[in-house]
Amino acid sequence: MWREALAGRWKASAEELAADLQALGVTCAVVEAWRPPSAGDPAGRVRRGREVRVARGDLPALVARMPSLAGPVGDLAQTQGSGLCALRAEAEAVAVVRLPLAADWPTWTPAQAQAVGLSCRVCGHDLRGGGPARRVAYLSGPVTARGALTLTCGPCLPPVRDGVAAAAV
Ligand SMILES: [Zn+2]
Repeated sequence: MWREALAGRWKASAEELAADLQALGVTCAVVEAWRPPSAGDPAGRVRRGREVRVARGDLPALVARMPSLAGPVGDLAQTQGSGLCALRAEAEAVAVVRLPLAADWPTWTPAQAQAVGLSCRVCGHDLRGGGPARRVAYLSGPVTARGALTLTCGPCLPPVRDGVAAAAV
C-alpha cells in the first residue's frame, strides 16, 4: 500500500495504515518508495511516497480481512518482490545502495522505469533487466531536477581512477 508524501489529511498516511494493520496482528514496515510520474504531470516529476510492506507470510491473513486487496496482492506475487540495488563509489570503497522504489517496480513499463531513472544515462539500457542482459548499475550523480535517479551501467562507466570508479562525481 503506497501513499504519496503529503497526501493530505483526508487520506490515511502510510504510518496510520501500518498502525491499523499492526493492531490486527499483521507484521509490516513503512519504507520510502518512489513511483513513476503521473500521466497528468507535464513536468514528469518522480512521485515520492511511503509504502507499507507486509511480510509475505502474512498476506493470506490480510486478504482474508480485506478482500479488495486480493487483486494487487496477486499481481505482486507474480513479481520477484526483491529490491533493486546499485553501487556507489565512496572515498575508499564501493557501497551497495538499495534504491527507494515502490514494490511494483518490476511491472513498470520501460518508459515509466526510464522516468524514474532506472535506465543508463549514457546508453539507455534498462537496468532492471535480468538474465544475460543484466548489467550492474552505478549511482553516478545527484538526483535530477525531476527527482529521477542518475544511474550508469558498468560498460558506460568512466575508467577507474586511483582504484575507485570515478562514479562519485
Ligand atoms: Zn550504459
